[in-house]
Order: sequence, then C-alpha cells, then structure tokens
Amino acid sequence: MSNIKFYKESNLPLEMHKVRIVQKLNLLPIDQRLKAISEAGNNTFLLRNSDVYLDMLTDSGTNAMSDRQLGAMMIADDSYAGSATFYRLEEKVQKFFGKKYFIPAHQGRACEHILAKTLVSPGDVVPMNYHFTTTKTHISLCGGSVVEIFKDEAIELVSNNPFKGDIDLNKLQQTIKEVGVEHIPFVRIEMGTNLIGGQPVSLQNVKDVSKICKEHNILLMIDASLITDNLYFNKVREPLCQDMSIAEIALEISKCADIIYFSARKLGSAKGGGIVVDDVALYDKMKVLVPIYEGFLTYGGMSTREMEATAIGLEEATDMDMISHGPEFIAEFARLLTSYNIPIVTPPGGLGLHINAREFVGHIKEEEYQSAALVAAIYIVSGARGMERGTLSEERNPDGSEHIASCELVRLALPRRVFTLSQIRYIADRLAWLYDNRELIGGLRFVEEPDVMRFFIGRLEPTSNWQEKLVAKFKEDFGESL
Ligand SMILES: *Cc1c(COP(=O)(O)O)cnc(C)c1O
Repeated sequence: MSNIKFYKESNLPLEMHKVRIVQKLNLLPIDQRLKAISEAGNNTFLLRNSDVYLDMLTDSGTNAMSDRQLGAMMIADDSYAGSATFYRLEEKVQKFFGKKYFIPAHQGRACEHILAKTLVSPGDVVPMNYHFTTTKTHISLCGGSVVEIFKDEAIELVSNNPFKGDIDLNKLQQTIKEVGVEHIPFVRIEMGTNLIGGQPVSLQNVKDVSKICKEHNILLMIDASLITDNLYFNKVREPLCQDMSIAEIALEISKCADIIYFSARKLGSAKGGGIVVDDVALYDKMKVLVPIYEGFLTYGGMSTREMEATAIGLEEATDMDMISHGPEFIAEFARLLTSYNIPIVTPPGGLGLHINAREFVGHIKEEEYQSAALVAAIYIVSGARGMERGTLSEERNPDGSEHIASCELVRLALPRRVFTLSQIRYIADRLAWLYDNRELIGGLRFVEEPDVMRFFIGRLEPTSNWQEKLVAKFKEDFGESL
C-alpha cells in the first residue's frame, strides 16, 4: 500500500494500473454541442455518446475492465442451464459476502424488482438511509412507501462528517414505534449513498442498525451496489476498520444483513447483478421469480462473459490498489473546484463529484430545475455529460405540484480507471469559467413529461434564449472552435 503513503504526502492521486486499450474521443465545437443538447431535449440521458467528450453520466456499466477480467471472458461456458461460469461466479459471490444463496439477476434494479415483489405489500413502509430512484419506484409499484431516516447532517452539503450515509438510530426507533413492525417488511441501508453524493455508511452504523432490527425481528437489507467506494472510506476514515483488510470489512458489513443485493454494473465493474441470503425459505420464495423475469437460475439474464468478468471484478474489489482510483480522483477533482470557490458536496464521496446546483444557480427558480439547467450548461461549455440529481429526478406530489428535492445536485460520475488527471483539469477549468458566468444560465421547462421516472426520457426546453447568450459569451472568451 505504498501508494497511499505517497498520496497522503503529495496529495497526488497515483494510478496503480496502466492503460493498454484506448478509445478515441470526440470534442465537438460549441455550436454543435448546443445543437446536440437541444435535439436531446436538454436531457443528458438523450445525448448520443458520439457527441460527448467526457461521459460522466454514470458509473453504471462504464468502469474500465482489467486485463484479468477480459481474459476471464474468454473461458465463459455458454449454456442455458448449469453453466460452469455460474458456479465460478457463485463461489466468488459467496466468498465476498459470506452468504449461502445467490440469486442472479440482469442488473441492480432487477434485484429490486424481485425483492419488492417478494417482500412489499400495499401499505408497507420501508425505512432507509436514503432512497435510490429505481428502489423507490419498485417499492411504490408494490403499494409500499419509503421513509428516509438519515441523520440531519446527511443533507448538509458542506460538512466534515465522514459518514453522511449513516442511519439516524433514534429516527429508526421512532419509525418502528409509529409504523409498527408488521408494516415494515425490511430496513434498507444503501452503501455509498448515491443521491446525497456517494456518501459512505460506517461499519459501526451498520452494526447498530442490525442490532435494532434484530431486537424487533425486522429484516435488514443492504444495497451493496456502491460498496467498493464505501469500503475504501471505511478503511481510510473509520478507526474501527483500520486493522481490517477490505475483504474483512466487506464480510463484517455483510454479516449484519439478512439480504444483500448489488448491481454488477458497479460492484464487479461488469454487467449484471444479484441477491444473496442465508435463509433458505427466503431464497426459495425469490428464486421462482428468476425464470419469469430474468432468465434461468444459472444466468439470470446475464451473459456468461459478463458473469466471468464479474467474478474477477469481485476479487479485485477487495484490492485497495484497484478501488482507490475513484475516490482519490474525486478528491483531487473536489480540491480543484474548491480552489475555484465552486460550491460542491463535501467531504467528497465516491461515485463522482457532486456540485451544489442550488447554490451555483440559486437565481433560477426551483420549479425551473436548477440542476437540470446546470447540467445542460455544463455540456454546452465542456462537452462533458453529467447527470441531474435533484428536483427533476423526483416525482410530482399527488396534487401535481413539484416535489422540491432536499439536495439539488449535478453529478459528474467518474467511472473507475477511465479518465486521466488532465481530463479532470479540463472539466474543472470549464466549470470555473461557467461559475464566473453563472448569471447567464437560465431555467428549463418540460415539453414532454413521462409519469414515471421522468428524468430518464423526459424532454425540456429553455425558458428563454439563455443558451444562445451563453454560447456567445463563451466564443467571446475562447474563440469559435472550442
Ligand atoms: C445503480 C444503482 C442501482 C441500480 O443498479 P442498475 O444495475 O443500474 O440497475 C441500485 N442501487 C444503487 C445504490 C445504485 O447506485
């Protein structure tokens, strides 16, 4: 772990890998970027990747694979039932989580679908540190609802709290008392809490929550999709974990939970997902859903190649050299933006860099989607595509009014081992320019608004000609072609 020592001394994130395959990128001139974002309905999900310079939309399925992962793909055993690949993956999953039964699924939300269908009944309430978009939707579709019991500090965007993902134990006790054990199918902890800025959960908190759940006989479910970054932070920020290996921390977390599920698009840096449990009755209940919705029990909708890659990816997820790249690059990115006074979420988390849009573009009305407007502006001035994580990612209130998000963020995801430090510097530099010219950014309004998860495919337009003005000012400062 010599790199960690070096990093601490020099503040320079140091790659413990080299790049042997490259993909050519395209940086369109600004006029074409304006045209592309207009055609995409000002929704970065609808951009074509060939129009994007740095794809910072998500880390879902976009992390760089290792040579060992690519090598493993060549020995994939293609068969519908009983593939040797499945048993290799199953063994690695069992080893990583220390649990007996593995249910494969095609991605994280597919696990959520199976879990919600199995466990959630109409009227149920699921307490959790924070919701994730697809999790909440699956629970809602089964007639349940979500109650968030994060600590108050969780949504203080500027903070020194190393574990903003922790559950507030008093709120948990209170919720159990108010809702009643019979209406709580499970408590959910999301590791590396996505929507509040990739903020980690401490091992101590997982233990405390587990104890309370056991006392009340309530199942504890862990969403381990973002556990790799979380494990990095447990190791470097939590005294309790100082003398433990990454594999030991993962097992210790897992031991506290009855059910764990993960997206292998994140954990494992491949494609796929799965659920693990120790309870055979629970396993039996869920496994019947797999052939209906996913595929046979020995592939669950995954390709055997991706399963082989996931098996190696899980092994590599316990190697500090392989998991440190993301959080350390994000910390460096955060340091650069802080030096430009750009409001960001601190401490920096995993997954990506999170900009506080409510502060960056506070002059835009909340109903005109501050984060969405900012993420469109960032694409226009840099060619980088981020993701809106604010009011637009919420669903409207039953009366049709906007549900204003507690955090209004723009996320610039850093897929692991994909970008270089000079690319980070480039985007930091463009953000500095945009921050100086932020008054030029205006709001957005819907032209096509889907009822469910509108952020994925909804289309918007600017509320004025602010984008043309932004482009004009950019050209004044940088010239025509950038
Ligand atoms: C991405 C993600 C999911 C969903 O996983 P997919 O494989 O993209 O469907 C679930 N939970 C969390 C915390 C995630 O970050």
